[in-house]
Amino acid sequence: MTLLQIAEPGEAPAPHQHRLAVGIDLGTTNSLVATVRSGIPMVLPDEDGRPLLPSVVRYGDDGVTVGYPAQNAQAKDPQNTIVSVKRFMGRALSDLSDVRRFPYHYTDLPGMVQIETRAGRKSPVEISAEILKALRIRAESNLAGELEGAVVTVPAYFDDAQRQATRDAARLAGLNVLRLLNEPTAAAIAYGLDNASEGIYAVYDLGGGTFDLSILKLSRGVFEVLATAGDTALGGDDFDHRVYCWALETQGIGPVSPSDTRLLMMKAREAKENLTLHGSSTLMATLFSGETITATLTAETFTAITQTLVGKTLAPIKKALRDAKLATTDIKGVVMVGGATRMPQVQRAVAEFFGQPPLNNLDPDQVVALGAAIQANVLAGNRAPGEDWLLLDVIPLSLGLETMGGLTEKIISRNSTIPIARAQSFTTFKDGQTAMAIHVVQGERERVDDCRSLARFELHGIPPMVAGAARILVTFQVDADGLLSVTAREETTRVEAAITVKPSYGLSDAEIARMLEESHANAAADMTTRALLEARVDAERIIDATESALAADAELLAADERATLDEAVARLRHLVNEAGADRRALVEATEALNRASEAFAGRRMDRSVAQALTGLSIDTLR
Ligand code: ADP
Ligand code: MG
Repeated sequence: MTLLQIAEPGEAPAPHQHRLAVGIDLGTTNSLVATVRSGIPMVLPDEDGRPLLPSVVRYGDDGVTVGYPAQNAQAKDPQNTIVSVKRFMGRALSDLSDVRRFPYHYTDLPGMVQIETRAGRKSPVEISAEILKALRIRAESNLAGELEGAVVTVPAYFDDAQRQATRDAARLAGLNVLRLLNEPTAAAIAYGLDNASEGIYAVYDLGGGTFDLSILKLSRGVFEVLATAGDTALGGDDFDHRVYCWALETQGIGPVSPSDTRLLMMKAREAKENLTLHGSSTLMATLFSGETITATLTAETFTAITQTLVGKTLAPIKKALRDAKLATTDIKGVVMVGGATRMPQVQRAVAEFFGQPPLNNLDPDQVVALGAAIQANVLAGNRAPGEDWLLLDVIPLSLGLETMGGLTEKIISRNSTIPIARAQSFTTFKDGQTAMAIHVVQGERERVDDCRSLARFELHGIPPMVAGAARILVTFQVDADGLLSVTAREETTRVEAAITVKPSYGLSDAEIARMLEESHANAAADMTTRALLEARVDAERIIDATESALAADAELLAADERATLDEAVARLRHLVNEAGADRRALVEATEALNRASEAFAGRRMDRSVAQALTGLSIDTLR
């Protein structure tokens, strides 16, 4: 496997064996593919020399089109022209707050929302795969060869479901995914921050429809995402909308048709982009209604009508700093990402807020793809001497298992750096138990019901033994993409069961934040509940054990001993079944039963040892 090969440092193949690897920025608005050629990262253009591929897929009468032609048909055929599909990745309809902004017909399948098109029902994974396929074909024709693999970037806040969906889309597009990489981390790599001295960096990413602010900590070649914040409904599109409203207003035009709206929004976007590129701009359009518009947009007007939008990006920055417990003065550098950061008023606001000029000498459209290309180059085994760094991220919420009594046992705690593997031993609860149900959960709370259920599976074929004798090793592994697989293995027979967790739907940022807040707010109450539940589980376990011992070896007990034991069992059972049981009483009664059964347990042990020895001598004689 590629990843295993590349994990070994110093395995760089000879230069003529250069393996073709690319980095892909699968953006909400635009996507790009880049590679490293002769040591220099570069974006691969389409046949017309354009670096960007608009992330737009159209299911037309004559087949599927992707990119500019699809974008141009948007006004004409909105329902079959899918924009911003990234918003739907790994999400159910109920997870999405802004679906009504789009003119699509949705079908809410469990797991992920589907979009009805002329070509039938399409999942966001399939639609994204069309974009990725176009990029793969572009790369293969540019590089004249088959790709070894690709690094695909995802927002830092993407959860398991969204990452898995992205991975699936890449696979569907015929790509070998070397790794999913967080977008801000990719941008930091493009700026060569991985070679810089240690420090904390902010990545300010204002794209077409989303704003993401990430705080990264770099130490010893490891990037850690300290905090992420943002606004999923703020981006360059909102600036277009301000220009659109301004144009209608200055021209004294009332409400327009949906097709004219789309047309005017495209013109507004052109005017906005031209203004930053050329310093002046005129919006000209002939509407479907026949009306013509000519409006000159000045930098002053544009700055004035978009001032509040720029201001809106500051709140998430403050939140991320607060979450990471940092001040602006702790930030060593600010990386600018996303086409919308070209606007001078955005640059000014960021410089002013952080008290330092941001890093902006790379093309903000391209930085993420360039960083991904550098990482892909290393992962494909083309690394240059000294380039033996590893990139790591952290997991946002703890991962664990349900144990008896509905309690969670954390196996990997939140903020652990990935990739990571952790194993823990568990045992059977009942005598002769041959199967075990494994319930994988995510969250910080003590009770399973307060956490999020990720997956369930069963381990069968455990050899029947007394309770507590079987050893089941459960291993949690989170790979470099943040995907979890869980394996359970019984140690004597080595029977094994495993699952890769594909949660049926995603968690939003807000949900993660809520789960963390709840866990803090309820920590004390949770501990009390946990202690009570544990006491109850202990009690049930000893009742069970005593009863099965009595059923098997009652003759080892005298009548009065038997009576004492029965009474201790009855008292404890009564407490277990009592609704408002007190933990103290449960613990005391459990101890009492333990003491009462001590002598009996000893006698049973002697007898089973004697039996085992008998068996052994017969066996060895043969
Ligand atoms: P995403 O990450 O969402 O795919 P991009 O990083 O490609 O998005 O950013 C797209 C946004 O950048 C669009 O709103 C586009 O209009 C804006 N943009 C691109 N070039 C310029 C420019 N010269 N001036 C202002 N905005 C620009
Ligand atoms: Mg982007």
